Amino acid sequence: MDSSIQAFLSWIRINNVPSQHTDAQAVDFLNHMRGDTLLHTFDSIAEAVGNTPMIKLCRLGRASGHTLLAKCEFMNPGGSVKDRIAFYMVDQARQDGRLRPGQLIVEATGGNTGIGLALAARLSGNELLCVMPEKVGKEKVRMMEVLGAQTLVVPGGKPLSDPLHFINQAKRIAAERGGWFVDQFENADNLDAHYKFTGPEIWEQTNGKIDVFVAGIGTGGTLLGAGKYLKEKNPAVQLVLADPVGSMLSDWQAGTEPHPSSYLVEGIGQDFLPGLVDLKLIDRAIQITDAESIETTKSLLEKEALFVGGSSGCIVAAAIQYCEEQTEEGLTVVAVLPSTGRLYLNTIFNSEWLLNHLSPTS
Ligand code: PMP
Repeated sequence: MDSSIQAFLSWIRINNVPSQHTDAQAVDFLNHMRGDTLLHTFDSIAEAVGNTPMIKLCRLGRASGHTLLAKCEFMNPGGSVKDRIAFYMVDQARQDGRLRPGQLIVEATGGNTGIGLALAARLSGNELLCVMPEKVGKEKVRMMEVLGAQTLVVPGGKPLSDPLHFINQAKRIAAERGGWFVDQFENADNLDAHYKFTGPEIWEQTNGKIDVFVAGIGTGGTLLGAGKYLKEKNPAVQLVLADPVGSMLSDWQAGTEPHPSSYLVEGIGQDFLPGLVDLKLIDRAIQITDAESIETTKSLLEKEALFVGGSSGCIVAAAIQYCEEQTEEGLTVVAVLPSTGRLYLNTIFNSEWLLNHLSPTS
């Protein structure tokens, strides 16, 4: 056994990390990681997207009697799950001629897709314009700019029927400037990226033993794309939507009257039904308040050393609630951690901001 494997195993023991792995399995795992990733040379950062780790939430998930696994999408190069679709959509559009060399790329984004696209656009050599609603955190806007994108922040709170809705504004600007409108909410390559990559990765990492898949919906690409693959492998896999209180998606899924209101968690929840979302595929929707999402985000950091954004807190809170409601034990539940905490230093990781924004009743 070489010294780094020994060091890894003793690290696990010294830190008393609860692990069901035998030493031999740990060695196999490390060799596999080295062979597949560490000793591999990529031709560009695009190839480093995906193949994210899955981490068992040994501390947060312990009480539930189920195995709670976190799919660490925040470890993608741009810090979020959206790198997967950004690189894939650009690549597909270049291949089939929808995106031409030198053409402007325009997208309506809550931020993370814009960051992924900014990286993809650096590689493809296209200019990028990201149109965002005001709610998007300043850190994300700044990040897109540093990565080379032009940004346009427009007033939020408009219905999709309003020409001033940020998606309609992006579409119009793309048409006026001869650009390619990416259209992540309707672009089938968004679903495809998760169907082809995220779903199979989750299936492999759980050895096909997954019972429940929990994610939020911004566009629905993650939940419906990976979820479709998982259900094809095993129709009994349950798809659970984690939805912020104030979003209309969970009410539409449950067939109840929606009560839309504003909420703080970024990236998930909607007041319109994205074209990619097939509500019939979703087995259960769980609503989570901002306070619960933020508390769980902080617990992920404090108990599991996972530094992630508020949508991760919402999704893990929903996964824990789902586990607590079950009468049977021993389910394997996979929760997505979509984005890094680094883009929320001035918001949910800032106590003054929280005092000013988190209402005592939320
Ligand atoms: N979490 C965050 C932070 C996001 O930015 C997004 C995308 N808006 C999601 C979750 C949801 O991902 P999807 O678009 O695949 O539904």
